[in-house]
Amino acid sequence: MSYYFRDQSWPQMQEHLDKKSLLILPVGTTEEHGPHMPVDADARIAEAYGKSLAEALSPEMPLLLMDTIRYGYSMKIMRQWPGTIIVRTRVFMDYVFDICRSVLDMGFDKLVLLDCHGHHSGALNVVSRELCDATDKSIAIISPAKLSADEFNAIRKSEPGGACHACEWETSVLLHLSPEVVDMSKATDVDHIRYHSDFVAGDGFQGRQRVTWSTWFLQPSQTGCYGSPTFASAETGRVMLEAATNNGAQFIKEMWDRE
Ligand SMILES: [Zn+2]
Repeated sequence: MSYYFRDQSWPQMQEHLDKKSLLILPVGTTEEHGPHMPVDADARIAEAYGKSLAEALSPEMPLLLMDTIRYGYSMKIMRQWPGTIIVRTRVFMDYVFDICRSVLDMGFDKLVLLDCHGHHSGALNVVSRELCDATDKSIAIISPAKLSADEFNAIRKSEPGGACHACEWETSVLLHLSPEVVDMSKATDVDHIRYHSDFVAGDGFQGRQRVTWSTWFLQPSQTGCYGSPTFASAETGRVMLEAATNNGAQFIKEMWDRE
């Protein structure tokens, strides 16, 4: 039996409703990722993370994996390089809201969004609150970067400032998933983030983020990267996907037992 939402007929969908299956909705985007990675990096990671979670949990847990949302919101700063699609925040939020509301109104109770693009986090949090108000159902949002942060900091090779966008973490995951679309001869560290502060984490994985203030405007990027992709390796990427899957699956089981 396929665990893809798209493969079900309506009677099969009804069986999943009767079993109270859990739904997973991966959310990525399409934006430039430096000269060495494809523009679909976030969508590709979202799709692979969804599949990895589905394989870890199914068939013991009844679930359906929805198709990945491949276009979303990026800040205008990303338009400096071609390949970035920007859906306005409110359009994006309404679109995600309607997709989620459709399945919640259909009768599904357990929904997990996979947040695989940093510029979406605030928007998805608001959508989850609005869905809760509209349906009295609480959805979860998990991120493979956050759920592998401890494991990444234990093995990373770049200094703080090396992991933000098209960086050591993301390039490693792509090298693991799709080495054929990564050209490491084009990767450089010229856009290592040099800003360090007690208040702002210059890196997605290290440092303290005690205020909301984007460091992306403090240091112009020459290549479209923010961080140090040259330290990336397929092995680091494999460990990251495994950690994000193990931790994500553990959380989803907890959510399942709780409800
Ligand atoms: Zn990315």
